[in-house]
Amino acid sequence: MGEQLLQQAQLHSGPMKILAMSGPLPQPRYQRCSECDYLFSIPDLKKTQTAHCPRCNAKVEKGRVCSLPRLIIIAISILLLMPFAYTEPLISIRLLGTRIDASLWEGIWQMSSQGSPLTASMVAFCTIGAPLTLAGSILYLHFGSRWGMNLKPVLLMLDRLKDWVMLDIYLVGMAVASIKVKEYADIDVGVALVAYLMMTVLVIITQINLNIEQLWEEFYPQPRPKGPPSSLKLCLSCKFTGHADAEGRCPRCHVPMSARYKHSLQKTWAALLAAIMFLIPANLLPISIVYANGQRLEDTIFSGVVSLATSGNIPIAAIVFIASVLVPFTKVIVMLTLLLSIHFKAIQGLKTRIRLLRLVTWIGRWSMLDLFVISLMMSLVNRDQLLSFTMGPAAFFFGTAVILTILAVEWLDSRLIWDAHATGNAEYTD
Ligand SMILES: [Zn+2]
Ligand SMILES: [Zn+2]
Repeated sequence: MGEQLLQQAQLHSGPMKILAMSGPLPQPRYQRCSECDYLFSIPDLKKTQTAHCPRCNAKVEKGRVCSLPRLIIIAISILLLMPFAYTEPLISIRLLGTRIDASLWEGIWQMSSQGSPLTASMVAFCTIGAPLTLAGSILYLHFGSRWGMNLKPVLLMLDRLKDWVMLDIYLVGMAVASIKVKEYADIDVGVALVAYLMMTVLVIITQINLNIEQLWEEFYPQPRPKGPPSSLKLCLSCKFTGHADAEGRCPRCHVPMSARYKHSLQKTWAALLAAIMFLIPANLLPISIVYANGQRLEDTIFSGVVSLATSGNIPIAAIVFIASVLVPFTKVIVMLTLLLSIHFKAIQGLKTRIRLLRLVTWIGRWSMLDLFVISLMMSLVNRDQLLSFTMGPAAFFFGTAVILTILAVEWLDSRLIWDAHATGNAEYTD
């Protein structure tokens, strides 16, 4: 235990990797890893450095200082670009002499008015709701801190929001939609595309520069916790390492402190099993229906990929295949493996399992791609009897399955993998 307490976070600065030497510090600041619960000390970080857990290498803190005034300017720019980027045409096509425009909002509206408001709201949340909340939260933090408002709920929410901002994925969706429509019509770039690109870049800059831990420190500074370091606990909500107050709450965010997420395994199993059930109709039923020259063409997810590949668009077919087929199935298999490894207290391949969990967390959001493509196509080709495009019943099942797998990954407490490994090891050596 004593040896563990002296270990310091690994500092990564740029491409260089420095393993800080262990040794006593003048005033050590202790932190528990939010992925494996390991306790270590963190030195003061330089701007370009990031601190990583010495046991599992998870990124625990970045040294980057975000100046809130600069983020405010970016947030206001995002808000100003939004009406233009969402309502003006992103792509235009010329079909039999008429011009048809597709905007993000129009696509969501078409989806909703054609009987799938739920699928439409999933698309709306990931492309409009989440970026809007991100920009709004930054403004709230700035003005709220001046007027003495409660900033805690916003800080807690900002940490969860980042996975749901999917402007970059929608951009790839636009490319896929353009190539699909190219078979039927000529394509022009819409006027809103520049605004959309600028907004996407600004949102990415905001996400890179936003340092939530530093904002907590700034608005709710905490004294260094006293007592033996081994008694320190991690707050699962705001990632503060310290002691619970008299009511068992985190002293910084006031959420009750517990060692692990409550009902993590039950919730993850429930989300995962539901996702598997939704994935069956999602892959068997048609996801898109095209009426062209009086003919009705139905495509399932897989036949859509095949038709893209046979028409010579191999790279686009590969992207759609990875996003819509490979990613959801990989996620389900990885999550099943992880859950079973926790139940059977597996001791082999711990590092591989941790890497797999990080992989599915990272790739998960890309499976929304197909829904974005459908939403854009619906607003493009839906005008006359000659050519129209609607979504099939599989779209709802697919969208729900994607959301459920994202939730399953979020609900799984990675510390349980380490706990199961530790008990498995103890039983093995007994
Ligand atoms: Zn760790
Ligand atoms: Zn907390």
